[in-house]
Amino acid sequence: MQINDVNGSLRRLAILGATGSVGRSTLDVVRRHPARIEVRALTAQRDAAGLLELCREFRPALAFLGDERAARELQDALSRDGLDTRVRSGPAALAEIAADPAADLVMSSIVGAAGLMPTLAAVRAGKRVLIANKEPLVMAGRLLLAEAQRSGATLIPIDSEHNAIFQCLPGGYRCGQADPGVQRLVLTASGGPFRETPLAELAAVTPAQAVRHPNWVMGPKISVDSATMMNKGLELIEAHRLFGLPEERIDVVLHPESVIHSLVEYRDGSMLAQLGQPDMRVPIAHALAHPERWESGVPGLRLAELGRLQFQAVDLRRFPCLALARDALRGGGIFPNVLNAANEIAVEAFLGERLPFTRIAGLIGQTLEAAAGATLPGDESLDAVLEIDAWARRTAAGFAAHDPAVAHA
Ligand code: MG
Repeated sequence: MQINDVNGSLRRLAILGATGSVGRSTLDVVRRHPARIEVRALTAQRDAAGLLELCREFRPALAFLGDERAARELQDALSRDGLDTRVRSGPAALAEIAADPAADLVMSSIVGAAGLMPTLAAVRAGKRVLIANKEPLVMAGRLLLAEAQRSGATLIPIDSEHNAIFQCLPGGYRCGQADPGVQRLVLTASGGPFRETPLAELAAVTPAQAVRHPNWVMGPKISVDSATMMNKGLELIEAHRLFGLPEERIDVVLHPESVIHSLVEYRDGSMLAQLGQPDMRVPIAHALAHPERWESGVPGLRLAELGRLQFQAVDLRRFPCLALARDALRGGGIFPNVLNAANEIAVEAFLGERLPFTRIAGLIGQTLEAAAGATLPGDESLDAVLEIDAWARRTAAGFAAHDPAVAHA
């Protein structure tokens, strides 16, 4: 039975993380297709003013805010406007909204590990889940894929690289299957803002410099991840989870123009690539419409104007976080989850100016080493995944508080 077969009919969408960058891009696509798609639910953690404005425009049946008091205020404001949106709060409510029987599609775009529980709830409920947030796949990919198999949920990646790969795989491909014709996946990486910064200057870069990405407009966490290339490391793990290839058959190549979003190499030597403007509305429109094609508001490329495209190997001395991610994926088990948690702590410390940029990788490496010597459960259950995540955060935070580079600053 195809629970989430949405062809032809009106699609009803819940957006988890509606006020963030992906949430807003999603609504920009939705705005263009009022007869095809209806907003059923919108959620935000903190941005009450942003959510109020979106609720006024899209009139969802359900809304969610992380803070209980802000949720009550939002409810009052919407009621005064004569809207019958029901506003909820609390983690259980977020999972219920993700599993809401009245929604067909769930956009999972909550930043960081906080997206895991609601994504899992949507998968268990058999939705078409548009995965924009890579952390749940990195932390608990095996669990999510197994649950999707059980419930009949369809996963469609929104991350531009994985969406590109999904588009280059044979029609009817379902995430979690390994396609026997595929030889290799190639993830492209822009190299971020520090692709050419002299290595000696990296220790002194500031959060403001790190979040200034040359090609994409993104939130601060993912922008720092792009600058360290941990973003590509997490994407490597994400690609392994979604498409079933081992670490050594997933390559990363620098491609500064961000025009080719990724490639699939087949056994016969064919390589298929997906190209487009670096604008998240393209993968979002693909996933909302799949298998149809809808306008996204983004024009196609003019190749003659682009002129040329460049490719380069990645220098792992410049980007040690990518090497750590490869180690974690080869190590398997708990290590990808530990890597992700330690990275979130390290990025937070860097953004708070409590850790130099060049210590982000060091802190993650220390936490992975500690994990290798610790007694931790396997990663097969949600409880175990959360326990490993909490352990890695505590451990990384302890290392950050005593970081030698900070003590001497
Ligand atoms: Mg990406």
